[in-house]
Amino acid sequence: MFILLRRDPEAARNEKSVLCVRIGQAPDAAEASTNPAAARANPRWVRSTECTGCMLCQRAFGMMSPKHHCRRCGWAVCGSCSPNKLVLDQWLEEEKPHVVQKMTSSEPLRVCTNCHGAAMASPEPEPAQ
Ligand SMILES: [Zn+2]
Ligand SMILES: [Zn+2]
Repeated sequence: MFILLRRDPEAARNEKSVLCVRIGQAPDAAEASTNPAAARANPRWVRSTECTGCMLCQRAFGMMSPKHHCRRCGWAVCGSCSPNKLVLDQWLEEEKPHVVQKMTSSEPLRVCTNCHGAAMASPEPEPAQ
């Protein structure tokens, strides 16, 4: 079965252009899918049908690269692009329908490197350590 996972590098590069496909979204939603600041201002859980690869590094999701969601902006990212957890004062619920909770989370939640960098630049509640 591992033979199936082998990829020709050139083919993988060509796939990048079709990884993230926008499907009939409103303009503001479309912007939230590509603009980190817009995504944080209006967090939305990016559905698996919208993105088959990490929205930060473009790596295709699969067994070797499971998909995670940033609880701050809702982007679908790989594990290497979401190694940090932060206590957030606004966050997306993991359970459907992924409601935005506007209260401090009781525990640190997974965030993408974009959001981690932004949170470090403009501090939010400190993670409990
Ligand atoms: Zn990634
Ligand atoms: Zn994020």
